Amino acid sequence: MKWTQTLIPTLRDAPSDAEIVSHKLLLRAGLIRKLAGGVYTFLPLGLRALRKIETIIREEMNRAGAIEVLMPALQPPEIWEQSGRAETASNVLFKVKDSSGRQWFLSPTAEEVITTLAANEINSYRQLPKNFYQISLKFRDEIRPRFGLMRAKEFIMKDAYSFDTTDDGAMASYKKMYDAYTRIFARCGLQAFPVEADTGVIGGNHSHEFMVPAETGENEVAFCEGCGYAANIEKATSGLPKTAPREVGAAVEKFATPGVVTIEALSKAPYGVPANRQIKTLVYIADSKEVLVLIRGDDQLNETKFLAKTGAVAVRPATPEECHAILGAKPGSLGAVVNIPAGVKIYADERLRGANDMTTGANEDGFHFRNVSLERDIQVTEWFDLRTVRAGEPCVKCGKSLKIRRAIEVGHVFKLGTKYSEKLNATFLDETGVRKPSVMGCYGIGVTRTLQAVIEQSNDKDGIVWPLNVAPYQVCITPLSVVPESQAMQLAEKIYAELTAQGVDVILDDRDDRPGVKFKDADLVGFPIRVGLGEKSLAKGEVEIKPRNGPVQFVKTEEAVAAVIKLIAANTTASKPG
Ligand code: ATP
Ligand code: MG
Repeated sequence: MKWTQTLIPTLRDAPSDAEIVSHKLLLRAGLIRKLAGGVYTFLPLGLRALRKIETIIREEMNRAGAIEVLMPALQPPEIWEQSGRAETASNVLFKVKDSSGRQWFLSPTAEEVITTLAANEINSYRQLPKNFYQISLKFRDEIRPRFGLMRAKEFIMKDAYSFDTTDDGAMASYKKMYDAYTRIFARCGLQAFPVEADTGVIGGNHSHEFMVPAETGENEVAFCEGCGYAANIEKATSGLPKTAPREVGAAVEKFATPGVVTIEALSKAPYGVPANRQIKTLVYIADSKEVLVLIRGDDQLNETKFLAKTGAVAVRPATPEECHAILGAKPGSLGAVVNIPAGVKIYADERLRGANDMTTGANEDGFHFRNVSLERDIQVTEWFDLRTVRAGEPCVKCGKSLKIRRAIEVGHVFKLGTKYSEKLNATFLDETGVRKPSVMGCYGIGVTRTLQAVIEQSNDKDGIVWPLNVAPYQVCITPLSVVPESQAMQLAEKIYAELTAQGVDVILDDRDDRPGVKFKDADLVGFPIRVGLGEKSLAKGEVEIKPRNGPVQFVKTEEAVAAVIKLIAANTTASKPG
């Protein structure tokens, strides 16, 4: 490709709404343009990088035995009613109407469609296992689209869905996808690592997210350098000991705490109750029922764990007015010892189990109780691990100190079980003629997010540093004179033709521009190898070969093509395992 024939609108500065480096570079390097918030056009270079990632994904999916299909973006709401997700996923669904007034959902994912397909097309154990995948546009009504392609309203996802006859079979399918994901991200030049992930209401413990460490990531991951334990903070647990038991004190005693409405205020004089001897009482509305959640004063409730453990679909904190209506006091004086209306469930964090000599609100504004014993004084409905772990706590597996870092979720593998197959009748006849639901798994990769994650992880002050496998072009040839008869341009054309003939992706910067401009642009776009043809080195019979992230080399003009091919080969084997 000749630079002047394509469209590479590089920018000196990024638009002010681009906050993170990868978003800025996507725009500055002329890879994408914004049409509206969360909606982007891919320009030629951005599309080339995207296609390369898609190719890697396709190759690895095919290698893992998955088969490609393409499902519609328009989905009938009925199948979402059937799966029970029309309600629960409602906030992300784009709903459109056709001219007859019939409603459609724009695909945010495709469990319902593929399970309907399996229900119709798969009837016998002989047809299983099967794993279907597609690479297609997905639509999600994200309330806060941001960071460019990271959280968009319209994005490209690879989604795969496995169907097996048994649980063991489903685990084997899961493992294949897990291994394929590991290869895909490695081939994309990305350092991504798997972490245990929340499985939500579906339950089970087989879900991993693939995370790319980045300060700008929207996820937090707890990990242990000792044993390799790693989990999304929404799921992570630690080996922290329970609250130290004390002698069971006398009966509960009420005391006045005028104006004290925070854990901190109660921990100060004249009260001096340390946060770890306080019980925080939170009121939540879970699926329109009121529930109390108890957590130690120095801990934070993890809402994702709360949802997962209680099986609630939608939770929100009660308003101060609702708290007052339920317990008779405002937040700051709430507790679970007295005045609990019948039927209100009390969930408590495991760390409080067996604790005594605790202090909590008395459900009377301006009063607290001391000498509270969890077992004796509070009717806990159920105990769960509900707290968020913190850095420095002991690893649940080996006891070493946990660390926490931010990360970008690029992929997610999930064992679904029979939730969807039962609801949408994806059943098969087994060897003995008994009809059973298929055991499913689902596996997603954010393709456009992955593209941006590569840039977020791989850049320097001058621009993008593309890994060879996903670079829009592997080589950029930069003749300093573009006059057709010049030695530089003639040699440039020759090297261009030879490299192209050998299957290398090459772009020839044939712009009649100052060398400084051309070098800056080549670095900004981040081509892995630049071949410079200047008068000075040509006079010596040499060309300049400059790897984007390495020192310049001078080679004889006739050896230029071989030197480039050698560099490419060295980098390709390094990033192409197996
Ligand atoms: P997130 O927690 O980031 O909202 P998710 O868990 O809802 O993502 P999945 O349903 O697991 O996402 O989708 C599979 C993959 O699709 C994710 O791992 C992510 O890479 C990508 N993805 C999800 N939502 C978006 C989005 N709004 N924009 C770009 N990529 C997305
Ligand atoms: Mg996910």
